[in-house]
Parts: sequence; C-alpha cells; structure tokens
Amino acid sequence: MNMYETVIGLETHVQLKTKSKIFCACSTQFGSEPNVNTCPVCLGLPGSLPVMNKEALALAMKVGLALNAQIASRIKFDRKNYFYPDLPKAYQISQYDMPVSSKGELVIEVKSPSGSDVIKKRIGITRAHLEEDAGKLLHEGVKDGSWVDYNRGGVPLLEIVSEPDLRLPEEAYEYLHTLKSILIYLDVSDCNMEEGSLRCDANVSIRKNGDAKLGTKVEIKNLNSFKAVQKALQYEIKRQTELVERGERIRQETRLWDEGKGQTFSMRSKEEAHDYRYFPEPDLVPFTVSREQVETVRKALPELPQARIERFRKTFELSEYDAYALVSDKPLADYFEACVAKGVHPKLVSNWLQTELIGALNERKIDFTKNPVSASDLAALVRLIENGTISGKIAKDVLPLMIDEKKSADMIVKEKNLVQVTDEKLIEKVCDQVIAANPKVVEQYRSGKTQSIGFLVGQVMKEMQGKASPKLANEILARKLG
Ligand code: ADP
Ligand code: MG
Ligand code: ZN
Repeated sequence: MNMYETVIGLETHVQLKTKSKIFCACSTQFGSEPNVNTCPVCLGLPGSLPVMNKEALALAMKVGLALNAQIASRIKFDRKNYFYPDLPKAYQISQYDMPVSSKGELVIEVKSPSGSDVIKKRIGITRAHLEEDAGKLLHEGVKDGSWVDYNRGGVPLLEIVSEPDLRLPEEAYEYLHTLKSILIYLDVSDCNMEEGSLRCDANVSIRKNGDAKLGTKVEIKNLNSFKAVQKALQYEIKRQTELVERGERIRQETRLWDEGKGQTFSMRSKEEAHDYRYFPEPDLVPFTVSREQVETVRKALPELPQARIERFRKTFELSEYDAYALVSDKPLADYFEACVAKGVHPKLVSNWLQTELIGALNERKIDFTKNPVSASDLAALVRLIENGTISGKIAKDVLPLMIDEKKSADMIVKEKNLVQVTDEKLIEKVCDQVIAANPKVVEQYRSGKTQSIGFLVGQVMKEMQGKASPKLANEILARKLG
C-alpha cells in the first residue's frame, strides 16, 4: 500500500481565437514572418497606450460560464513585472486579484477506487484570467545570442488555474482532455499544443496519507503534450517519494521536463508573487461588467460535451462509452450526426464509424480531418448492410476500397459483384456440400454441441466468397441438421 498521496494542480494557458491582439490591432496570425505583426503597443514603445479587445473578454466570459464559474462584475488589469527579452515592456499585462472568472468546476470521468467503474469527479477551478502572451526567443541557426520574434507578444491568453484536486497523473490527463474538448466546443481556441495555443504547467506534491496539510509543490514546465504531462508527473512523484523516503526535504522549485531523457531538471527555485511586484495597470481603467452582458453570453453558449453525451444516449440509445468517445472528439461527433441524419441506424453508424472507419484510417495513417469518406458515403454503406444488400463481412472489405479508391459503396459492390446471395436454393446446395464434407462436426452438433453450427456457417460463407446471407445459411443448416 502506498504511504503517500499525490496532489496535483494544473495551470493551463489557452490562446484565445481573436483576429487581433488583446491590447492593439495587430494580427494574431500564426506562422507569419518574424516581427511583422507588431506595433508600438505590443513592442512596448514609450507613449503607446493599450486598449482592451472586447472580443477577448467575451471569449473569456464564455469559458468562465462553461466552467460554471462566477463572472466578476468588476474587471481590472495588473502589471506583472519581470525582466526577460521576450517581454519588451519588462512587464506583462495580466490580472492579479480581480480575474474575469473564479470558483468554477470541471467534471471529469475517472476510475473508481476499485478500478472497475467509471465515476465522475469534480475538479475545482480557482480562476481564469486574461493576460497577454510574450514574444518568442529563437535560438536555432543563431550564432551569437538569440533573436526575438514579437509576433506572439500581446496575443490574448486565458490562464485557467485548477484547485489542487487532482490525485493521479491519469486524472491530470483526463482533466486536460475534458477541458480541451469544452474549449473546442466553445470555439474559443484552436487548442493546438504544437503551435502553442494550449500550454500547461503542472504543480505536484506528495503528502503522507491522512495529512491535512499540503506538501511542498514543484512546478513542471516545458510540457508539450498531454502524455508528456502524465509522464512528467509520474516521474516527479517517484522522485519526490524517493527523496522523502531518504529523509530529505522537497525544495519548492520550477523544473523542466526533458522529453528525450524522460526526466525533470531544476530550472529555478521558489518564486513568490511579491517577486513580480504586481500593481494595477494605470493605462487600463477598471470597468464594470453588467449582469445583462453576462446573460447575453450565457444565452449564446453552444451545446457542451456533457449535454451532448446525454442527448446521444437518449436520442440515439448509445452506451455511455460510445457517446463519450464520439462527443469528446467534436469533428467525429459532427460526422456521426451527419450520418444519422441520412436515416440509418445510429448504433450501426457508431460501430462502423468508431471501429471500422477509424481503424482503417489509422492503419493508413490518415488523420480523421483528412478522411476521404464523406458522412453520406458511410451512411450509404451502412444502408447496404441494413437492407441486406451486402453482409457485414463483405462491408468490411468494401470500406477500405472506399478509402483507397475514393469510390462509393454502391459502385464498389456493383463493380465487384458483391451483392449478398439470398437465393435459398443456391445456399441450400452449398449447405448440403458442407454437411457432406464435415461429418465429424455434424455429429458433434447432433450430439448436443450446437455451437458447432458456427463452423459450418463459416464454411458456407467461405464457399460463397462471403456473399451468402449468414442469417439464411444459419437457418438452412439448422433445419437440415434437425
Ligand atoms: P503560485 O503562487 O506558486 O502560482 P498557486 O497557489 O497560484 O501557486 O497555485 C498554482 C497551482 O498549483 C494551482 O493549480 C494549484 O492548484 C496548485 N497547487 C498549489 N499548492 C499545491 C500543492 N501543495 N501541491 C500541488 N499543487 C498545488
Ligand atoms: Mg500562480
Ligand atoms: Zn501591436
């Protein structure tokens, strides 16, 4: 039994999807030539004044409401001071004590303590505040020193801070997965970790089981994927446990995850809020958010993952598992609904989409966003199965051809002459052959081992290149064997 409990809290930065930066009119376009998206404001030139982008505030409010948080009635910006070349003003405009939203929650699905069930767990959201992003240092190909690209400087960020409510690295993974899904549904961010539009720092400590006081935390940075967050946490928990067991103290510090080495390394020791000398941003006056404004944003909220899962379960009679798997990937869920809208059976669509189509795409290393099979194409395939034109077995051969040859199911079935044989006389003939050729199996069946019929059905299917109706083959065999 483990003597220590792990405590994890996550700080997630998401780049908000606005056209222009948070305090100036510069473009937020990713991938532009270095320093083209800059102006006196985001370069911090003297005399320039920031003006808040209302769209960024609206997006931040959307997130707050989706996380069941309270939206502040008064909003203020503060200066967070630190010296680093990525920050031309030597301070970052952020929010200190009056964030856009606070006291929210995120409900995640985790394994029950016994491990056999999935239960819902509420993770508190301390706050979500607006701030500007910093520039980017470029080291590659630079001989002396570094270059700085200020295109990213001033891009709006929302920092979402969780309570230390997470207990396992897998829970941290699940939290990020769920949060990302909500942000995608809200359409407030691309959440692309590679492009840096979603970044996460993980705080972790351990304490003796039963201790009320939290242990000393370590913050881990440089986490480039959700899996990296999970792996870094696992590594760090082990490191801390070993230290404590040797009787040593945990130092409060920031550590960097090295993906290649699979280890964390110390970057700097403890920093406190007062090191940043936060003070109110004098160039942006605090302002009031009316309750009507909040209600307007609330009314415009789209359907969120949790509600969609419920709807999929009720309307389409999907299992919780299937509904969850579809909904957590919005493009997949949209595709599913487009198929079902063609009038085919939802459960069949769910299976053919999640198992067969995704499986075939994965085999070919094709991302779902580049899926060449349209929703109506998949629906047409499912319809052929539904109305008995082809067997499910044949359909499994048809689907890969739809991907590789970019043809419709109907066309492939016609070209390859795959229509299911429902001619009873023909199937009967083959059944007679199979019975004659397998006396041992027939005897087993007759002596009570009725599941042997499966083998015989298989033989009939094989004889007929998979085109026999398995249902008919089964019926005819059963009748003949008495
Ligand atoms: P700081 O002032 O160092 O930024 P905060 O109190 O703002 O610390 O917390 C930052 C993050 O660390 C939050 O997500 C919080 O839940 C988490 N956290 C705070 N204390 C601990 C702890 N003892 N162990 C693990 N995580 C913690
Ligand atoms: Mg903090
Ligand atoms: Zn600018």
